[in-house]
Amino acid sequence: MTKVRSCPRCFQLMWVKDDEVEVLDETTIRMTCPHCHELVRLKLVSQGSNATGPKMGH
Ligand SMILES: [Zn+2]
Repeated sequence: MTKVRSCPRCFQLMWVKDDEVEVLDETTIRMTCPHCHELVRLKLVSQGSNATGPKMGH
């Protein structure tokens, strides 16, 4: 299963591939962003909404 997520560091879109991520727990994965090369954590949410996510500001 492949998903596209926005990087929390550089906000660019990146592919999330199951075989390239580190699973921390049932809802959290970790991977290295191909753009900024930061190790970022992503929440796995079944719903498309990001209402519970952190606000992205400058
Ligand atoms: Zn990034």
